[in-house]
Amino acid sequence: MKLEKYVLLSAKLGLKSGLHIGSATAKDVGKGEPLPVMKSLIKNLPYIPGSSLKGKMRSLLEITYGQTQNGGPCGCGKCQICLLFGSGSHSTTQEPTRLIFRDCSLTEKSAEVLGKLGLENKPGVSIDRKTGMARGGALFPMERIPEGSEFDFQISIRIFEDDNTENIRKWLIVGMYLLEQDALGGSGSRGSGHIEFNNIEFDKAKFPENWREEFKNIKSELLEKAEIKKVKH
Ligand SMILES: [Zn+2]
Repeated sequence: MKLEKYVLLSAKLGLKSGLHIGSATAKDVGKGEPLPVMKSLIKNLPYIPGSSLKGKMRSLLEITYGQTQNGGPCGCGKCQICLLFGSGSHSTTQEPTRLIFRDCSLTEKSAEVLGKLGLENKPGVSIDRKTGMARGGALFPMERIPEGSEFDFQISIRIFEDDNTENIRKWLIVGMYLLEQDALGGSGSRGSGHIEFNNIEFDKAKFPENWREEFKNIKSELLEKAEIKKVKH
């Protein structure tokens, strides 16, 4: 199969609540210091690893379309999700991964604000169910990238000769919508990691402002009607 081109999806990824994507190892835990967020070695600025976004989008699509295997990621190598995200080395059908998620850096403006204000420290409070009072010791305080921060989000998409670019776009709309409804990083069920996408461009064309509406129209038919590869007859 021939690689035809690369198509870029770019967007601004904004934080609607603080985000914690941790870099702590077991030896960091319990020292009384807040659990650190991932930071780049050179600039010492927090960033969002592409692997976190890729893994989360994949798992949300898999649970939406019932494509998990024993609760883990699907590795069939044939379904639309495997075509997009890759199928792992244990699969018998080897298809190249279509989606390359870049690490997301803070925009210049957000990096400047963060330089002044710093990261927030969220106390890790655990509530005692009997008394309704805070109970110490069970959770650790953690660093969060503050709400309002903005990142540059990019996916480079490999388009092979038989691929349907428009259908890949549809899958990404649903994936991004699901990411907005869910949460990224740690403590997601307790408020952290609420994100939104703005200024989305796909192959140099702007997504319409109401792109979330499109999600509702295509979500149910995606698995059957939005095939990534044209089937050869
Ligand atoms: Zn699969």
